Amino acid sequence: MHRTLSTRIRLNPDLDQEVEFRRIAGSCRLVYNLGLEQRRDFWRQYRATEGRHLHWMGQKKELPALKEAAPFLADAPAHCLQMALQDLQRAFDAFFAGRAGYPRPRKKFENDSFRFPDPAQIRIDAKAGLLILPKFGRSKGDHGAIRAVFHRPIRGKIRSVTIVREGRHWYASILLQVRCKVPAEKAPVSIDEVYGVDRGVEVPFMGSDGVARGHAILPKPGSGEAKRRKRLEQALARAKKGSKRRAKVRLKLAAHRAREARRRKDMIEKVTTEIANNHRVVVIENLPVRSMTASARGTVEDPGANVAQKAGLNTAILDKGWGLFRIRLEQKLAARGGLLIVVSAAFTSQTCACCGHVSAESRVTRDLFRCVSCGHEAHADHNAACNIRDRGLALLGLAPSARIERPAAGAVVAVC
Ligand SMILES: [Zn+2]
Repeated sequence: MHRTLSTRIRLNPDLDQEVEFRRIAGSCRLVYNLGLEQRRDFWRQYRATEGRHLHWMGQKKELPALKEAAPFLADAPAHCLQMALQDLQRAFDAFFAGRAGYPRPRKKFENDSFRFPDPAQIRIDAKAGLLILPKFGRSKGDHGAIRAVFHRPIRGKIRSVTIVREGRHWYASILLQVRCKVPAEKAPVSIDEVYGVDRGVEVPFMGSDGVARGHAILPKPGSGEAKRRKRLEQALARAKKGSKRRAKVRLKLAAHRAREARRRKDMIEKVTTEIANNHRVVVIENLPVRSMTASARGTVEDPGANVAQKAGLNTAILDKGWGLFRIRLEQKLAARGGLLIVVSAAFTSQTCACCGHVSAESRVTRDLFRCVSCGHEAHADHNAACNIRDRGLALLGLAPSARIERPAAGAVVAVC
């Protein structure tokens, strides 16, 4: 069985290479945006006639003509320009499938990336710390190869390499095809192997055993770091367009955001690895992150309520990286022969894990759950995690474990 994995390495391009990176990224962005414009015009012209549409293979054939009109495009590797059009195709596919909004133009500083799709033209010399790509070192003696940091051996067959800028640094995202063992005949699941996780705002991840995870890695809301970000955003809004100061602030802000994103990803990776290593079946609730993080602003005719409050909650949800958590946990469990079960989130925070009574009044504060029917008291997220686990057990056809066996009220153990 084969599986695709991606691994990311930090690049240390020299000055000339960085200039070249920017130039290629700029050309790819231009091709992407022109392709987008072409599709929009095409649709306007032919919207009445059915069955006529553009595909990236067709747009690809127009690239030579475009290069004649804009000769600087010929300096960029041809494959990278083609991949920009393929990215556009994927963006439209996602749009038509209802998974994403209408594709937006790519912007400088925000979308600086390009992809090399041909494995035959990619080589890695991990010992020397070199990445060899078309236009970068594919000549005698690897002259011009990109210096890189390899933290771990690159195993598997290389499929493609994407170069991307985040903040001040450049990274290579390497797509690998690896062989993995087919899991032995799936053993029946026992009740002890099923684990529930609740995703919260204060504590990012709470387990059904009362273990809270992830909160110690992230900076607290309202900390110096959050204030610094706000200051930078204000400074950017004040700076004059096109000024040197604006460019400087923008770079600082990008670096700040990139660091926040790295820390969030680090937290998710640590938490998901720990959970996947220790539990075979994990149950989480189905949270539609996109609609949960949508703005509550509404329209002019129908203004939304509690806009600022919702905006604050959105930041909190995005901060904890809920979407990525589910993706990575699913991948890690699959690699270990485990299973991720997703259950409905309805009323998990209002249901008593002890007697099953449902009442909004049982949720005394954000952290405290006290059942109005039986008096069971627990951390609200822990109570919810137990409910999520029980829903998973019911789906598997296993009766929930005896409710009285639960850890005592308020028993929250912190691991990281
Ligand atoms: Zn109760």
